Amino acid sequence: MSNPFLPPSGELSLYIHIPFCERKCPYCAFESFIPSRVDATVYLELLEKEFEWWSIRIGKPMFNTCYIGGGTPTILNSQQWSKLIKTIEKYCNFTPSAEITVEANPNSLKAEHLHAWRDWRVNRVSIGVQSFDDAELEQLGRMHNSAQAYEALSAAIVSGFSVNADFIFGLPGQTFHNWSRTLKDAVKTGVDHLSLYQLTLEPGTPWENMPSENLSDGYYPYRWAQWYLPRKGFKQYEVANFSKPECESKHNINYWREGEYLGVGLGASGYLSEWRYKNISTLQEYADAMTSRKSAITSGERLTPEAKAREAFILALRMTDGVYRDQYKNKYGAFYEQMLLDILESFPKHLYEITDRNIKLTTKGMRVANRIWLELI
Ligand code: SF4
Repeated sequence: MSNPFLPPSGELSLYIHIPFCERKCPYCAFESFIPSRVDATVYLELLEKEFEWWSIRIGKPMFNTCYIGGGTPTILNSQQWSKLIKTIEKYCNFTPSAEITVEANPNSLKAEHLHAWRDWRVNRVSIGVQSFDDAELEQLGRMHNSAQAYEALSAAIVSGFSVNADFIFGLPGQTFHNWSRTLKDAVKTGVDHLSLYQLTLEPGTPWENMPSENLSDGYYPYRWAQWYLPRKGFKQYEVANFSKPECESKHNINYWREGEYLGVGLGASGYLSEWRYKNISTLQEYADAMTSRKSAITSGERLTPEAKAREAFILALRMTDGVYRDQYKNKYGAFYEQMLLDILESFPKHLYEITDRNIKLTTKGMRVANRIWLELI
């Protein structure tokens, strides 16, 4: 019998958070910290307890995608990966075509990782390259150089994985020449997916007080990527994501299309039965909760119908296909669609496109998407 707490079988995603990094990058606001010698081993035991807690409530669900992110999942050694895989297999089912992604850092990705993943179910690897310029990598506080990045990408591709590489633009002092060379080199590596992020100064990070004038303008690097990548076979399918045909990230599409997902691990978030939750974010609290068989959830919320309608509209506009109007109206009603359309139509016409079927941002609209979200939220 189906579980009323879950979507129909095979429409659920799983996110597992590995909250460890060898060093904190000065711009990074993700939930991660430098572990002590035993933290990772202890954490994997606790993670198993969290899976057990969920299994009492939702059984052994069928997942269509799984994303193991962080942090740095490649900080785990092969024994620790065996333990993690055993736990996942004990508590999760996967559809035959499930997309299973693991995040990797170039300096810690080893052949033993690739073997373990290939022998299990992993079919996609996402590598945090950020730049192919050694001076930029140093500026970003990364632990790898460009040679290690090329090596990691090539090892993952040769092992048969679909491979994504992440890059950052808008760095202080970044020249157009550096950025275009990085992207050209990225295309040459043979990856089938690229994620491009503009550097932002996040609160709580060492760079939070850097004057924003120090950052280089992100508009032109982004515009150039939108021009260059389609010529090399990469279609932009989301504000920050470009892929070769059929290589889009199903896991991320599930987020943008408001699909439900179970989030497991310290600091993870989840979305089930229209209810969004966030897990505890310190190891001590997580350990206390798990050893006393309590929930790891620290907060949860159910959005009001209006907030949900706004959020769904914005998430869909992130994608180049935009909002599917019939689906949207069936779910949220014509009133909210009209309310948000009125806001969108206050922007210049070349930024969006409205047909009977979709509402979407144009290539130019994607360049100023953040300004549009601010009005729609
Ligand atoms: S390696 Fe990734 S998750 Fe870790 S601190 Fe750097 S950017 Fe953040």
